Amino acid sequence: MKKAVITILINVLCLVLTGCGVEKQAPSSSKSFVRVLSTTAMIDDIVAKVGGDRVERQVLIIGEIDPHGYELVKGDDEKITESNLVFFNGLNLEHGASLRYKITSHADAISLGDFVLKNYPEEILFEQGQPDPHIWMDVSLWSHAIEPVLGALVSKDPEGKEYYEARAQSAYKEMTKVHQEIRGKLQQVPENLRYLVTSHDAFAYFTRAYLASENERKEGAWKKRMAAPEGFSPDGQLGAADLQKIVDYLVEYQVHVVFPESNVSPDSLRKIVFASKEKGMTIRMSLKSLYGDSMGPSGSASGNYLGMIEYDADVLIKEWSE
Ligand SMILES: [Zn+2]
Repeated sequence: MKKAVITILINVLCLVLTGCGVEKQAPSSSKSFVRVLSTTAMIDDIVAKVGGDRVERQVLIIGEIDPHGYELVKGDDEKITESNLVFFNGLNLEHGASLRYKITSHADAISLGDFVLKNYPEEILFEQGQPDPHIWMDVSLWSHAIEPVLGALVSKDPEGKEYYEARAQSAYKEMTKVHQEIRGKLQQVPENLRYLVTSHDAFAYFTRAYLASENERKEGAWKKRMAAPEGFSPDGQLGAADLQKIVDYLVEYQVHVVFPESNVSPDSLRKIVFASKEKGMTIRMSLKSLYGDSMGPSGSASGNYLGMIEYDADVLIKEWSE
């Protein structure tokens, strides 16, 4: 009798405290259902495009949080463990130790960046031996990530093969079209204005894809079109020399506007603007931030992947034409 009462009490407590037994149930349409966790919203966008409603999706790093050094918070462990598939960017983007450990111990964690590096090595940029992880900033390059997502979904849910393949194909077409549109409109900005200064080095792929002329692309001379005080991972640890380098760049290319990023402190750019003004230069900071490592608020025009890249292009065009 006593034992029965204790068992009931434990069960009630369990339900009240954690909902256990409820949330661990298999989804109702379990055969055609894949549970996917993506580390970033840009990855989740591809999963949504290919997976449609056969996939249950979650994103780990939500909102304007820096993905570079992200460490697991309460509840993340379960999100990863309970997913059938985990997609991450790789190329050392997610370098927070706890996240890295958890990802590498998942049986089906797939690095989209590693796939692109292996299959399209000539398209990956390196700086001091380190791959640039910001591969989503070139829509055409990011479209290569459709392939590993498609492959993984089909292997987990073979019945959905045709469904996934059709969706992957239209995602690819849409991305190719938007890529060309963005390049087309940015190339209309006069060449002498297409010099991009941002907070951290998130825009190299963007610059190569959209700001460089055809010749600069071919000759690898496009790098002069971008500069940032902070490296691949913004950490705010800047010395006077880092700032001076950017001030010199602004003088050399007669740049008049610099662009903060939505999820990076604008402090370093403020210092640069201040130092430039002291030298008598006319520099301003764009009132609108660019989206590099995170998207806009969900539901807004920049709250989805293609909208985010288009938003960046439109901000640049507007600011450069003033
Ligand atoms: Zn970044």
